Amino acid sequence: MHDQRYILANGNWGVFMDSSTVDVTPSTDGCGVLTIDLGAICENFRRLAKDASPAALGAVVKADAYGLGAIQVSLRLLQEGCRAFFVAHFIEAVQLRPALPQDAKVYVLNGLQPGQEERAALLGVVPLLNSLSQIKAWSRVASSLGRTLHAGLQVDTGMSRLGLSPDEVQTLTANPELASNIELTILASHLACADEPESPTSAKQLAALRAISGAFPAVPISMANSGGIFLGSDYHGTLARPGIALYGGAPVVTGDNPMMPVVGLRVPVIQTRTVPAGTPVGYGATMTTERTTRLATISAGYADGLPRSLSGRGAVYFDGTRLPIAGRVSMDSTTVDISALPEGALDLGTQVEVLGKHQTLEMVATDANTISYEILTRLGRRYQRRYI
Ligand SMILES: *Cc1c(COP(=O)(O)O)cnc(C)c1O
Repeated sequence: MHDQRYILANGNWGVFMDSSTVDVTPSTDGCGVLTIDLGAICENFRRLAKDASPAALGAVVKADAYGLGAIQVSLRLLQEGCRAFFVAHFIEAVQLRPALPQDAKVYVLNGLQPGQEERAALLGVVPLLNSLSQIKAWSRVASSLGRTLHAGLQVDTGMSRLGLSPDEVQTLTANPELASNIELTILASHLACADEPESPTSAKQLAALRAISGAFPAVPISMANSGGIFLGSDYHGTLARPGIALYGGAPVVTGDNPMMPVVGLRVPVIQTRTVPAGTPVGYGATMTTERTTRLATISAGYADGLPRSLSGRGAVYFDGTRLPIAGRVSMDSTTVDISALPEGALDLGTQVEVLGKHQTLEMVATDANTISYEILTRLGRRYQRRYI
């Protein structure tokens, strides 16, 4: 088997390898091994594509594909037929656009800032226009280049985050020349409560979008994020744009997570010790042992994306045994209570599971009092990344 070592412009590094060897090869350089199962991302893509059909399925690859590598993920999804990729910031589109073929669209959800328009046009990036001033600026660049430029039109239907307000929509429909030389390729809006199927907010937002859509009958609708796909076909529009579900996160807060897990994380032990009752552990001495306790320190901390809020709450696993985090998570290391394991089970270099078969993304997120999105996007840069 040949490992292919690489460093990408976006700072990701790691090896491509075949899946059969993943669980036995130790981390060579990294402070842990982060495995990213591109095959599982594809399975999730296919499943969501089936659910959303006949709507097309795009992929949200913002924040470096939720921390997993925007270029790696996008190139793989391209092979699955994905042709619409969504990033948040222009800088992300600048990095991704050249890696993809011309028939793939790279949308910038957050829109452009003044001064970015011409470069975006020349790169072939497709901004979401979130205000009248952005529409005017895009139209101006289009006419100065003597071209028709593609854009998405984003409207706010009740989240008050991004997109034209109802007043601005009225102004635009009354003055369509504001968007001259612009070809709208999607009419987009974003759901605030898509992951809560019981919430009445989604239906209100859908009704608002449909009303606006009447003024743009030829423009395809894009509304569904991951949760939106599970709200049913009314929400699918013409182009769905899931993010978290592709990466194995739960699209809906209730019930079982139907998605395939994508990320595994194993971190090696860097020291073990046995301490008597009454011994303080970690910064601030927030924990004191109640009995003779065996401890292991592992080589990842909050700088590697293990939230400090896991201090005294979270756990790692070894062979299915839960090993509670003892005291505070440090920047580069975390100490865990290994008393539940037979003596000598863990040694220098033994890898424990942070994410994997026994501990899901959702479990870590819950312990850390956050959401899977935040756990993924904070996964550190010091792990050896393995794409399978
Ligand atoms: C992040 C984002 C998505 C993807 O949301 P998920 O919940 O991860 O599926 C879709 N649309 C917009 C506008 C977003 O900001």
